[in-house]
Amino acid sequence: ATLLFGSLTACSSERASDSADAGESASAEDTLVGIAMPTKSLQRWNNDGAHLEELLQETGYETSLQYADNKVDQQITQIQNMINDGADVLVVASIDGTALGPVLQDAADQEIPVIAYDRLINDTENVDYYATFDNELVGTLQGEFIVDQLGLADGEGPYNLEPFAGSPDDNNAKFFFKGAWDVLTEYVDNGQLVVPSGKAPATVDEWTTIGIQGWESAKAQSEMENRLNSFYTDKKVDVVLSPNDSLALGIEQALDGAGYSADGDWPLVTGQDADEANVKNMLAGMQAMTVWKDTRTLGDQVATMVEEIVSGEEVEVNDTETYDNGVKVVPSYLLPPQVVVPDEVESALVDSGFYTADQLGL
Ligand code: BGC
Repeated sequence: ATLLFGSLTACSSERASDSADAGESASAEDTLVGIAMPTKSLQRWNNDGAHLEELLQETGYETSLQYADNKVDQQITQIQNMINDGADVLVVASIDGTALGPVLQDAADQEIPVIAYDRLINDTENVDYYATFDNELVGTLQGEFIVDQLGLADGEGPYNLEPFAGSPDDNNAKFFFKGAWDVLTEYVDNGQLVVPSGKAPATVDEWTTIGIQGWESAKAQSEMENRLNSFYTDKKVDVVLSPNDSLALGIEQALDGAGYSADGDWPLVTGQDADEANVKNMLAGMQAMTVWKDTRTLGDQVATMVEEIVSGEEVEVNDTETYDNGVKVVPSYLLPPQVVVPDEVESALVDSGFYTADQLGL
């Protein structure tokens, strides 16, 4: 489905060229925006790409939207091709946030501004802006949800927890884990949360030890199956910290396979993205929450940034402290994520037009 929300109303004839010949105006058709997305395998990136492309095209820009099948080399080649094709602005949702240095040096040599989309690009001077959701808050919301639901602040427990983290090469993953773990650590330390598998990182910085490469559902599933088979022969898991919906989906498949019942002993499972399959699982009692990031608002924000860059206006940001990429702090625009529980699916996700009732079988 095409998820349209905002629209840009700027008049192309008012837009100044981004080229050196200031004063002259360029038609929007002269402006090519390259959009590099990580993969089609996760629903959100399809929505993200389609929405941003649509917004930019409505304004009259040319776009080149590419998906890289989660393959770093493929993404580098795609960005290189965008540069060769004369891109004026690059929007990049990176696969490996540390692998784009050389190709972005090429972009910088040709004075092509770069916006990091959703994921920060690390170890390079050549990223100009970053637009994303507040990634640490995503994790905080997941952690606080677990604390609230289990009554941990009232001393309830002990509960068996299995924590998961996202892809080690994705800069966001550490923010998600940090946000959640900062909330949960005290309950792991005092024994209200027990991790039978032992897969609780000793410190937040060791989160990569439980990271699922490529955010793959299948890998999360087999990891969860292994934990259930090895450590749960005589006990039940009560809660799973899953950083996002693709992992949650695999975890839920493993739970289903192990005989957990949605209207009985199903554990509390967290998620992020409000992917369609997961929202359906929420309605079926197999996922307790998702952190919804209305990706339409991210597209709107990035389209605005592109517009500001092309017209030579100041680019609006709201965070200039958090996202240090190892070389510089990248000026960022952070959007607010929002918790959605099963009861709120209709009011949050359907009433806003993110999904139709039909899509969710409502
Ligand atoms: C995004 C998440 C997404 C994950 C896997 C992260 O960088 O912020 O929304 O679930 O990548 O694609």
